[in-house]
Amino acid sequence: MMIHKVRAAVILAGFLILGNSCGKHDTVVDRFTPLPANSIHFVGYLEQDIRHSMENWNKGAVPYDSLVEVFRSGRSFFAQGEMWGKAVRSGSMFYRYTQDPELKQILKETVMDLLTTTRENGSISCTEISKQPDGPGGDLWERKYVLLGLHGYYTHVEADPAVLLAMTNQADCIVEQIGPPPKIRIVYLGWSPNHIESSTLLEPMMRLYKLTGKQTYLDFARYIVEDEGGALGHNIIEDAFNDQDPINIGGVYPKAYEMMSLFEGLAEYYRATGNEHWKQALMNLYHNIREQEITIIGNAGGDVHHPAVMGEAWGQTALEQTNPDMNRMMETCVGVTWLKLCSQILRLTGDPSTVDMIEKYAYNGLIGAMKPGGDGFSYVNRLNGSKTITTGWGGIINGVHVTCCNLNGPMGLAYLPYLAIMNSADGPVINLYNACNATATTPRGRTLDITIDTDYPLSGKIDIAIAPHSKETFILSLRIPEWSLDTRLKVNDILMDARPGTYTEIERQWSPGDRIELTLDMRCRLLDAPHGTNRAGDNFNALIRGPVVLARDENIDQNYCNPVSIISKEGYVHIISEEPDLTGTRMQFQVPATNGTIHMVDYASVNNWNGKHICTWLPQLLTLKE
Ligand SMILES: [Zn+2]
Repeated sequence: MMIHKVRAAVILAGFLILGNSCGKHDTVVDRFTPLPANSIHFVGYLEQDIRHSMENWNKGAVPYDSLVEVFRSGRSFFAQGEMWGKAVRSGSMFYRYTQDPELKQILKETVMDLLTTTRENGSISCTEISKQPDGPGGDLWERKYVLLGLHGYYTHVEADPAVLLAMTNQADCIVEQIGPPPKIRIVYLGWSPNHIESSTLLEPMMRLYKLTGKQTYLDFARYIVEDEGGALGHNIIEDAFNDQDPINIGGVYPKAYEMMSLFEGLAEYYRATGNEHWKQALMNLYHNIREQEITIIGNAGGDVHHPAVMGEAWGQTALEQTNPDMNRMMETCVGVTWLKLCSQILRLTGDPSTVDMIEKYAYNGLIGAMKPGGDGFSYVNRLNGSKTITTGWGGIINGVHVTCCNLNGPMGLAYLPYLAIMNSADGPVINLYNACNATATTPRGRTLDITIDTDYPLSGKIDIAIAPHSKETFILSLRIPEWSLDTRLKVNDILMDARPGTYTEIERQWSPGDRIELTLDMRCRLLDAPHGTNRAGDNFNALIRGPVVLARDENIDQNYCNPVSIISKEGYVHIISEEPDLTGTRMQFQVPATNGTIHMVDYASVNNWNGKHICTWLPQLLTLKE
């Protein structure tokens, strides 16, 4: 009983502290909260990808002037007006992390430019007022991204009242035009069979409600969630609540990206209302995606079950990932939105499985989709054959190929430092083990320096220095990855328990100079192919070392897709690290096979932008038994 009382006091103290950083209008207090801006700096590995993306995309290739121009002179192709908001949203998240003054100037100029396009009715829209709202043209989807771009700028770059006014004018115009009859119903305003797109306005409306407390925005969100349910002819939110498989949600159009975008808004709606029904719908969708859809590189969606949706629909992708009929799969927009949805659930619940999902995508699918220079992302991401395929929605804007995926990829990278280390009422939480310097907050509100010194995931050896400014008793939570079955954890040389797939909560009096040594299980695991609908995909194996998926790379091996029989023992393969053949390769290994050693590299490093190919699921060399 005594322990419970002490614990309650700690939680109460934490609640008060967190009260300052959480939204004013939230009913639900998040379990985990992000560190403030500029509190963490990665060193090495993912940092290089983040810098490439920010420098060469957000500060480089993005044609901001042309992206604004469509709000004056109209779009030249469908949904073109989404681009500006996406570029500014990821730029603002990068600014939150880096505080780069040049980036700030670029964002400020384009935001000011955009505000000059505000129409007489308050809208920032590619559609002239007399033709608003233009459902099939993508008008509402575009206005959603204007709101999210402005929201990112306002919250992470500069809280300029003119920006907030532009957002409320935009939102008020939407509320004026759309709603229950006699207004136009939101589910009539889309372009796909179930018109899901416009309902994703839920997220910016909730974000604006949290900024302003204006009841109109919460009412509009309630209209989307409780009256319409997200799609025409399908109550997507109730389908999720009723635990339907993702592949069956939304009829013939279970579009992965848009559906998760809607549920990001639902997470915000749950925070504000505290109604557990919405949380349950969110959690059911999360668990079903995790179990049924996510492939070994952490992304999802494919074209076996819904070919008309171009590989962007749910498709039992976890099972079908070796299906030879699969052509298009794993849109980058899907992976990034999944990462963001996982981050929402992590903040709400503190469920470590969400970080397993984020880590899997970050080290494989996400950085594996980026151009080597960082100035773009692949649209489709495949495991065998051509890994990167840029064909999809988008266009050449002022000489730059701009796609939805080019624009969303950077947002995924910008989220990694945001959630690597977090605060909680009990004490700081370490989620990701990329090397970094960070400053967290103790439950008593004092600053706490955390330094992670490691070359992870090259090795699994991680040294963490914990330096509170004065002695204090609190819980430090360390995520133990679900794949790390044999983990060694020592705090100041004292051995501790570490169970895979959980947080190890270390409660002690922490002092300056305290050290944690964590050694994760980096043995290489051999996976058998899942059984999809086409049994020709059954006889394949994949190799995963720690969080990193390995692959054969045509750039260094002409026989990259030949059948092999990998030598393994009890599910593990004895691989030997070697110097990579190519400078751009992060890691390379000798892998034993019955017909000789093969060489494999990390999936992410394989460069298929030059027309070469990859083999991640290795066809088995079948030997006749007896
Ligand atoms: Zn995309």
